[in-house]
Amino acid sequence: MRYVDEYRDADRVRRLADAVLAEATRPVTLMEVCGGQTHTILASGIQQLLTERVELLHGPGCPICVTPLETLDLALALTELPDVTVCSFGDMLRVPGSHGDLSAARARGGDVRVVYAPLDAARLAACEPDRRVVFLAVGFETTVPAVAAAARWARDRGLCNFFLLVSHVRVPPALELIASDPERRIQAFLAAGHVCTVMGTAEYQPIAATHDMPIVVTGFEPVDILQGVLMAVRQIERGEAQVSIQYRRAVRDEGNPAARALIDEVFEATDRPWRGIGIIQQGGLGLRQEYASLDAQQLIPTDALPQPEEPERCRASEVLQGRMRPPECPEFGRGCRPEQPLGAPMVSSEGACAAYFAYRIGDVEDEIASQDPAREAQA
Ligand code: SF4
Repeated sequence: MRYVDEYRDADRVRRLADAVLAEATRPVTLMEVCGGQTHTILASGIQQLLTERVELLHGPGCPICVTPLETLDLALALTELPDVTVCSFGDMLRVPGSHGDLSAARARGGDVRVVYAPLDAARLAACEPDRRVVFLAVGFETTVPAVAAAARWARDRGLCNFFLLVSHVRVPPALELIASDPERRIQAFLAAGHVCTVMGTAEYQPIAATHDMPIVVTGFEPVDILQGVLMAVRQIERGEAQVSIQYRRAVRDEGNPAARALIDEVFEATDRPWRGIGIIQQGGLGLRQEYASLDAQQLIPTDALPQPEEPERCRASEVLQGRMRPPECPEFGRGCRPEQPLGAPMVSSEGACAAYFAYRIGDVEDEIASQDPAREAQA
């Protein structure tokens, strides 16, 4: 197949779903890791095609959703400084911190700018030497090479006014944590193809072997997802636990060596808190000593920040670990909607709650309407 339409072909999708159901002799539960895959599953009705025989649980694969509250609060505090510009991808602007979001900070006069690439922020710093420019560096391994390239670009030019607020996270330690759960129902992972395009598959081998779980590196279109499901189901049926690659058109076993070398030059693995999950050992990346001068944390003393306050009603922790589907959250579609989110999964374009709101809100609104006392009285 050469064109994206072929990966969305309805007949091919149905045939693959039929093949999965024909080969799965017992119910299986899989977890797709990436929020982009979650959105495809919801948009394409893949869960309905697979019936209850194959249950797809949604994993923590939305980097914006797992960015810790402390990082957001620090970014918000930086917007209060008169000579600081905070640059971010657009997704981050509506993510709630303890007291508001970056969009509100901009409305209050903070200098918050949306950029499409980290290098845009570094170039801004070069153009505006009187301002300190901070890039909010969030994301999985996929986005790290571009941030590392910006860091190197700034260092090579001797820029002293470009900083990184780093909250990058690494996927394999999170999968290890989920796989280690003594109550886990998941029998296989569909790993995120874009992450493995950069990092390769070596880090997934010990997880599959230790926990006896197939891991299929999968792409993002409906045909990709169903091919990944079929490969996982075949392994489960045969009693195998291999790392295999469905997304061969982008992923090699060794990943992208040039991108990995760039990451290694600038970053090193570190323990990092994941919002809703807690600290994951080696679950993130931090700047190496050679690049420590870029660390934005030095711009503001962390003890000057407010104590982070998670909204009590948000159940993102359970959603991110596949323990709850978004419509099971009592606030879904009621107190929490994209225009008034309680948690990051309702705002991010890769958030599971946003996916259900986009594609399944009709089901919930019918339920809400049926609980309306006024309607009940009319009936
Ligand atoms: S629906 Fe809203 S409140 Fe519920 S888990 Fe999702 S983001 Fe949190």
